[in-house]
Amino acid sequence: MKKDALPLKIHAYLQDPLVARETPMYGFQDIEINDVYNLADGPTSSRFAVVDYNGTTGNLLQPVKWDPKKKQFKAGNLVLNNQKARTDSFQFHQLNVWAVAQKALQFFESPQVMGRKLPWGFEGNRLIIVPHAGYGQNAYYDRQSKSLQFYYYNNPENQQPVYTCLSADIINHELAHAVLDGIRPHYNESTHIQTAAFHEFFGDLTTILLLLRNNEFRAEIAKNVGPDLSEAAVLSNIADEFGRTVENKPFLRSAKNTNTMDSVADSQEPHEVSEVLTAAMFDILIALSMQYIERGVAWKEEDQVEMTSTARHKAAKQAFWYTIDRMQRMAMQPLDFCRRWM
Ligand SMILES: [Zn+2]
Repeated sequence: MKKDALPLKIHAYLQDPLVARETPMYGFQDIEINDVYNLADGPTSSRFAVVDYNGTTGNLLQPVKWDPKKKQFKAGNLVLNNQKARTDSFQFHQLNVWAVAQKALQFFESPQVMGRKLPWGFEGNRLIIVPHAGYGQNAYYDRQSKSLQFYYYNNPENQQPVYTCLSADIINHELAHAVLDGIRPHYNESTHIQTAAFHEFFGDLTTILLLLRNNEFRAEIAKNVGPDLSEAAVLSNIADEFGRTVENKPFLRSAKNTNTMDSVADSQEPHEVSEVLTAAMFDILIALSMQYIERGVAWKEEDQVEMTSTARHKAAKQAFWYTIDRMQRMAMQPLDFCRRWM
């Protein structure tokens, strides 16, 4: 196997096009791909193959081309893996969804999380990604077809298409379903609502942790929101654009909710039940960040260093790093202790 010259940087949405338009500082991220083999058009890599077949129109869209000499992804002469990339090109969409999924898998396989290569929940090495699967307000993981399917629909306000393959929250959530299915295949076969809810919770927690892992994002939050992470709606909101255009609220789901197992006792909807566990983990994340901030401040006070606003900003930034570092170990590594059969 050949390891292509790495790292490779891909410009991709940090959240989604709506967040990028309204709050440009949370617009884009440069994803560093550092563990990928056998890159090809599509993109295709050793663990993913993007196949852009649209089930509604019956069209197979041209794949983004990989130029191994220049280390560039292109559509014709357009270079798509840099900051000037045309985000309205379908080939950019292909690259965006691939890079976000690749980064999420790198996260799960990193020493801080599972620390090993993770199998898929099916035979074969490659998860198929279909960025424009057809018209509809949906996206899902399907073990049978070994794929993630991303649909698109029109924004009712302006009739412009909304592509779920451009939402990092949706991609990370669906990829997390695929990863959990590989680690614990029987969870998808259980008929218990709480098992299905655990799958949904795992997807939503993944989106939160991956966003908070982004260094520029943490710095912006520390500067603009201040020490209280729970005030950062962009972090607690899951799938902002989908929520605004489909559900008419600022998010599809929020980690900042007051649901309890009692309040969802009659629910047959796994997404709704999942909010209880997501909120509990989010509360833990906030409490951890507060503790790290207090420790940082106490330490400065002992040394009688005056806390200027810059120093407070730095203390918050550092505290958020400790928080994500701790949280990813605490919330993800115990997957290995989960029961194999439920
Ligand atoms: Zn889901």
